[in-house]
Formats: sequence, C-alpha cells, structure tokens
Amino acid sequence: MTQPASENEPSGMSQEQRAVERARKAFCTGRTKPLQYRIDQLKNLQRFIVERQKEIADALKKDLNKSEFGTPLYETMGLEGEISLAVSKLAEWAAPRPATKNLLTVSDEVYIQPEPLGVVLIIGAWNYPWAVTLQPLIGAIAAGNAAVIKPSEVCVHTSKVMGALLPLYIDKEVYPVVTGGVQETQELLQHRFDYIFYTGNCTVGKVIMEAAAKHLTPVTLELGGKSPCYIDKNCDITIACRRIAWGKYTNCGQTCIAPDYILCDPSIQDRIIEEIKKSVKEFYTEDPKTCSDYGRIINKRHFKRVMTLLEDSTIAMGGQNDESECYIAPTVLKDVKPGAKVMQEEIFGPVLPILCIGNVDEAIDFINQREKPLALYIFSSDNKLIKHMITETSSGGVLANDCLVHFSVSSLPFGGVGNSGMGSYHGKFSFDQLSHLRGCLIKQLKMEGMNKMRYPPHTAKKLSWARFFILNQVELSKLGRWALFALLAVVVAVILQVRAIPAA
Ligand code: NAD
Repeated sequence: MTQPASENEPSGMSQEQRAVERARKAFCTGRTKPLQYRIDQLKNLQRFIVERQKEIADALKKDLNKSEFGTPLYETMGLEGEISLAVSKLAEWAAPRPATKNLLTVSDEVYIQPEPLGVVLIIGAWNYPWAVTLQPLIGAIAAGNAAVIKPSEVCVHTSKVMGALLPLYIDKEVYPVVTGGVQETQELLQHRFDYIFYTGNCTVGKVIMEAAAKHLTPVTLELGGKSPCYIDKNCDITIACRRIAWGKYTNCGQTCIAPDYILCDPSIQDRIIEEIKKSVKEFYTEDPKTCSDYGRIINKRHFKRVMTLLEDSTIAMGGQNDESECYIAPTVLKDVKPGAKVMQEEIFGPVLPILCIGNVDEAIDFINQREKPLALYIFSSDNKLIKHMITETSSGGVLANDCLVHFSVSSLPFGGVGNSGMGSYHGKFSFDQLSHLRGCLIKQLKMEGMNKMRYPPHTAKKLSWARFFILNQVELSKLGRWALFALLAVVVAVILQVRAIPAA
C-alpha cells in the first residue's frame, strides 16, 4: 500500500513506479545525508516497534501462530538492539576512516569516506517478516540511503500492518512501502536501484540478480539451503540436543539457519532421538498442537511440500499432522540415506533427519560435496575438532555448541557464501554494505620533483626510483612521531636527488 498519486505525478503511474520516483526524488534533495536526519528516522523506527508491538504480534499470530512472547524474542528485540547500536555508533561509522600511508602518500591526506549509495530496494521474506525486512532498513537509513520496502506478501496480515503503519512513523517519501506479490516485485525490479537487498530462496535469488544485472545494480542475497549439524560422540548430548531441538523447532522449523540435518556416529543416534524427545516435551508439552509456543507451517503449499519429504524415510519421532491447521508435529527421521527426498532440498519445516557417518572427516567430506551452507553447527567438547571442521569446510557462518544465536551477535557479519548467498549485514556490516566506501586521496600541487620518475621519457634510473617508492611500502602508522619525521627527511633528500635525474 503506497500513498495515492499527488498532483504533480502522472495519474497513469503504477504504485511501484510512484514509490521509486518519490524515493529517488527525496534522495536527490539531500535530506538523508545529515546524521541527525538518519538518527531521527532510526528513533522513529524504534518508536514504531515499541508503540505497535500489539499490532505486530497480532499479525504474526495470524500469519504464523507466533506467540505473544515469542514475537519480541525472535522478531523485534534484535531490531531494537540494532537500532540502538546504529544510533550510538553512527557518528563513528560515518566519519572519514584514515588509510595507511606509504612513501608516496606520506604528505597527503588519505582516507575512506563512506557515502550513501542512493535508493535501495529491500525485498523481504515471510518467515521472520519484521526481522528480515526492517533489519536491512536500519542499515539503509544509517548509511543515508532512501529505500523502497517490499515486505513478503506471503504473510498477509503482517504485510498489511507494515504497509499501513510504518509510513506513519518514518519519512514516507524517503522510505515508501510497496505491498503486493510476485507481480509487484517484478514491476519494481524493472526500475533502476542503487542497491538491491533480497532475502528469500535461491531460485528467486537468481531472478533478482538477473534483473539487477540489467542496471549493473549490486545485490545482497540472503538465501537459505541445508545447514548441517555435526554431533561429536564425545559431547554432552543432553545439552546439545536441547539446543538443537530449540534451533530446529522454533517457528516450526521455518528459519533460514535452522539445523537442517544431523550427522553423527551410529552409536549415538538412539540417544539423540531420546534427548530430542525429552526437549520437545519440555518446550512444547506432550501435545505441541495445543501449545501456544509451537508455530504453524505458513500455508498449504508448504505443508504439502514438507509432508512429501517424509515419504521415503523412517519416522523416529512425531510425524502427526493436520492439513486444516497446517500443523506438523516436531519430527525426527532416523537412518536417513543421502538420496532420500528430505536430503534433496532445504526442509524449512519441523523435520530433522539424522544421517549416520563414520567419523568427523566423513562428515567434512559430506558437507564439502554439497552446496556451501548458510550455517554450520558443530557440537563437541573438543576444541581441536571444532577448529579442524572450521578449517576444512566453508559456510556463511559457523556456530559451535549452540544454534541460531550467532544471528544476534551484531559484531559478526551475517550472510551466505556460494549457494547460500552473497554479501552480509548486521551492525556495522549493514552500514558498510549499504554505503559506498569512497577512497579519497588529496594531494598538494607541490613536490612535483617526486613525480618525475613516472613522467616520460622513461629510463632505467627513473624505473629504479619508482621501484623503490612503490614497492617499499612502509606502515607509517606503526612508527612513532620521530621516526615519521626522520622518514620525511629521507623522502625530501630522495626528491632532491630525483630532481637531479637527467631528463633523458
Ligand atoms: P517469499 O516467497 O516471501 O519470497 C521473498 C520475496 O521474493 C517476496 O517479497 C516475494 O514477493 C518475492 N518473489 C517471490 N517470487 C518472485 C519472483 N518469481 N520474482 C520476483 N520476486 C519474487 O519467501 P521465500 O523465498 O519462500 O523465503 C524462504 C527462503 O528464504 C528460505 O530459503 C530461507 O532459507 C530464506 N531465508 C533466508 C534468510 C537469510 O537471512 N539468509 C532469512 C530468511 C529466509
């Protein structure tokens, strides 16, 4: 839902075109640049989250059966933390960053100036619709950009609330919300943006990248995939399984970084099943269907998709379901074969397959033979084993001895690699991702003698001076004040010598 056309907008314009043009026009006024404006907008966003907690929670209850207390915990608390961080650090993040000097730049001003990119398109997914849509927005605002916000239409109620209420808090000309489905997203993608930040599945990720390529627009793709979870037999299996059960069944398994499947030694498979059963009972009672903290599959299409994944494997726990409510009980599959249906795609539901493997190196091979995952989980009390797995594999992020919580650490970049995505965000990484880091070198129109070595006619002597200046990189920042002066004296002496180089 965007605002109606204003007097000076042609009536034939679509809502998408209107939103893009308004954001572009507003950005061009320069009003997003002052830090105070950005801080005010971030605070408005904070106020929106606090004041509209009820509307946010009610919509999520209807969309995904998220609970009253689960919503702040999984959706909005992280946003509040990210906003506070951005507000308190903005001056530091946006300030010019000094860059290392070398012999050639010793008397120059050398720095990196973060600058806004322009208009960012943010396309959100449905599983944590507030978190994955507003978190990139925090980065976009902090970096001084305008943004067109496209929430996922799959969360019907949430998308309505976002479209209706967000513009009451933040500058609606600079950050318009466009609601709608695939058609509206595709219409938006026809336009030129300065950055596209997409969260969703890999297939659509390719569509986004193709559309972006037409305008040479850079993208962040926050995608998904199958995140493996290795359990070492020498670890506290009770604690490991409680953390895994939490990570898997939160939001009914519809979490991009949910542990997708377990790899373990056959000798601990039964123990794992028992411990997961215990944790599920502890979290969601004997009957998760009646528990307010247990969610639902988003819609019938996904319900049917997840149920199909159970077909050729053995159910060790759960499996109960009710299509009319999109309910699937927390489920564990045992002795799963790599060729089973459940291993062919991201599960994105409350189904946890266990695959038995011989040892850690087999686990590493198994992981490396597949697409690079968004997260890799390792449960072990052996630090060497953990480090060995980290060295021998690749994934968007790694978390040892817990699940999901790396998402909430603002000092870590969050994002995928290879098939799980590109680019990263959270905390300062969001700011940097949505800024252009402009390299600035300010020289004086002095010391022309220094340049002789690069001007034609080129000679062997000039080349050897160039070699000296260019290849002898000195980390001046590491030297003391006096050492710096001494070096300057050397440079001046050298310049005088260069001046004496004959022109031919
Ligand atoms: P979705 O269906 O809501 O799609 C995401 C967005 O893409 C929507 O706004 C939708 O309008 C748009 N879209 C869908 N089809 C399109 C098309 N053909 N052309 C143009 N736009 C289109 O969400 P989804 O893809 O089902 O989300 C689930 C996936 O997202 C999972 O794979 C999950 O792992 C991943 N995910 C990743 C992260 C992360 O941070 N890496 C977070 C959440 C979800």
